This record gives sequence, C-alpha cells and structure tokens, in this order.
Amino acid sequence: SFAVLLTGLGHAATDTAAQAERMAEAMQSALAEPLQLQHTTHYISASIGITLFQAPLGNLDMPLQHAEAAMYQAKTAGRGLVRFFDPDTQARIEARLHLENDLRQAIAGEQLRLFYQLQVDGQGRACGAEVLLRWQHPQRGMVSPGEFIPLAEASDLILPIGLWVLQGACQQLHAWAQQPHLAALSIAVNVSAKQFRQPDFVQQVCQAIATSGAPAQRLKLELTESVVLEEVENTIEKMAQLRSHGVRFALDDFGTGYSSLAYLKRLPIDVLKIDRSFTMDIDAPEHSGQGKRPAVLIDAIVAMAHQLDLRVLAEGVETLAQQERLLRSGCDLFQGYRFSRPLPEAEFRAWAAAQQ
Ligand code: C2E
Ligand code: MG
Ligand code: MG
Repeated sequence: SFAVLLTGLGHAATDTAAQAERMAEAMQSALAEPLQLQHTTHYISASIGITLFQAPLGNLDMPLQHAEAAMYQAKTAGRGLVRFFDPDTQARIEARLHLENDLRQAIAGEQLRLFYQLQVDGQGRACGAEVLLRWQHPQRGMVSPGEFIPLAEASDLILPIGLWVLQGACQQLHAWAQQPHLAALSIAVNVSAKQFRQPDFVQQVCQAIATSGAPAQRLKLELTESVVLEEVENTIEKMAQLRSHGVRFALDDFGTGYSSLAYLKRLPIDVLKIDRSFTMDIDAPEHSGQGKRPAVLIDAIVAMAHQLDLRVLAEGVETLAQQERLLRSGCDLFQGYRFSRPLPEAEFRAWAAAQQ
C-alpha cells in the first residue's frame, strides 16, 4: 500500500474532508485508466482510506494506523471505494477481535456450557433434546451463540469447539442411556459447514461415539441447507457413512435458504426442521404482505416432506395456538419455549424426572 500526505487543507473539518475526498477520487480515476503491458490490457482499482488530523504532527504512527484501518474498511465494503476513518466502526472491529481472542481461551478455561432444549412429539411426550452451546464469559456473562458462533466460524475456532460439543453430547447420551426416564431420548448436535467439511469428520464422530459408549442411533446431527447443497456428492457420501453407523440427520432452519425439496430425496435425512420464522407467522392472514408465510405454505412443506418419508419438526413454538395450527398442518415434532427453554443438563434431568 501507499500513503499520501496532504497538507495545507485548511481548518474546517467538513471542507478538509471534501478536499481529501476529491483528491482520493482523482487518484482513483487516474488509476482506473487501462494499462497496456506488452500485449494485454490491465485494469487496476484502488481502495482508499482517509484519516484527518491536525498539525503539528509529531508521531505519524496513529494517523497511519487509522488510514490503514479505513483502507481495510473500504476494501471490505467493495472494490475501488473511499472510506474515512470512523472510530465507531473501528471500535466494533476491535471488539470483535477482542471477543475472538477471548474465545480462544474459552475451551481451556472451561467457559463453554452445553444446554439442552426439549423436543416433543404430537402428544407432547419428550422424545429428544437439542444441545445448544452457551459461553459463560468471565466479564460479559452469558454470550449467545448468535454472537460467537459466526466469529468461531470465521476463524477456525469452530473446529475445536464443535468437537468439544460433539464429545460432550456423546458422553451425555451415554449417561442418559443408564437412566430409565432419559434412555429413550435422542440428542441433536448442530454441525457447522467447516466442521462437516473436514476430511476426517466421519472418524471424529465415530470416535466420539466409541470413546463415550453412546448409542449411535440416538445421536442426531443437524445440518443446514447451505452445508448439504455445497459439494452434494461429498456430502451424500459422508452422510451415508455416518448413517451406516446408526447416526441420523436433521435439516436445520428449513425455509430460510434455497428451500428446494428436490435434492432432499437423495440425502439420508430423517427430520426436516421448519425454521422459527414460519412458526412465528403461522397465524398471519393468507394474503398479508411483508413476506409473511401463511400456514398454507407449512401445509405444503409438511405434505411434501411426508411424501419423502421425512418427519417434520417445527422450531420456536411459543404458544398453544401455534402448536395447534402446526398439528393441523401435520407437523410431527415440536420444539420451543412453549415446552421448555434450553436448560443446563442438571435442570433438564430434574425436569425430565419430575415428568415421570
Ligand atoms: P438453531 O440450531 O436453529 O437453534 C434454535 C435457536 O432457537 C436456539 O437459539 C434456541 O434457543 C432458540 N429457540 C428455541 N425455541 C425458541 C422459541 O420458542 N422462541 C425463540 N425466540 N427462540 C427459540 P440459540 O441457542 O441462541 O442458538 C442460535 C444458533 O446458534 C443455533 O440455531 C445454531 O445455529 C447455533 N448454535 C448453537 N449451538 C451450536 C453448536 O454447538 N454448534 C454450532 N455449529 N452451532 C450452534
Ligand atoms: Mg439447530
Ligand atoms: Mg434452527
């Protein structure tokens, strides 16, 4: 990268900014001219970051760092853009880096927890639990996976974290198998794309099962559409291998992505999990706007899923009215605050014992 120092731009910040921006644009259009090198024409573009500061200069480190940060912000926003250094954006980026560093300590520091959320059948009987990760941050308290899973996925931290969840879930399955009122429950584990794409993912799962002594047929892996659609052949092979060991699959967040049922019949999936956004909208009027998905859509998804021998689980069920409407659609399984919030294992176990 190159640094350009403009001096004598005056004192009024807005005027200074306008001049700097005009200069940046002039540099960009000069650079945008096609370049003739030997017999080919080359095109280049420049991302420019600007920071304003007052003379006398003293140390130039800070302005240079800010200009560089602004340049990276420009790059992230797209090709050939100009960005001014923005302390708020910078603070957000730094907070993210901070959190990522903390997350590196989380496993070793035993800050991660597994919570269990009940899944019930049409009669409201317990049939399984989804394991949901929680992070007990020493200063920030409970951090939601919505915040740290994307961070973990962007770095490779999702790999050790995902393995830790898998092993923990298998140990729990083994422990539950010894207790009459929990022995029939399955445990569903969320698997992210990077984790599933590892060449030795199948071995990791088999090893977690073998080491823990968990009943494989009660382990369920939740994959999302984007995972199964990417490299379909490889996905099918991995799923088939795991299926032959007894492991089952659920397709998570169905309806939020591509939502094609056509590819589903090629995949050994047992359960389709309809995304919470459908459940939320289930009592919306048939022709309401705002991208609402009325109940008829769920009726259709359930009918098609049943044709493909898939069971359908509705996520995020909060009210009796939603549950009743989903039952009428033919949904087989349910999960949501109406039945239970995600709970620490001890509470989940106590609750299950009390149901007896
Ligand atoms: P998901 O797998 O779709 O999990 C369902 C989310 O919906 C959970 O949020 C759960 O607490 C929430 N939920 C359940 N019932 C209700 C309800 O009735 N109402 C509302 N408003 N929400 C409900 P959570 O625990 O915050 O997890 C968010 C996402 O983070 C998960 O979505 C999953 O994609 C990801 N995640 C969680 N744990 C793991 C993990 O161990 N590994 C990976 N790769 N991802 C995980
Ligand atoms: Mg899930
Ligand atoms: Mg989901």
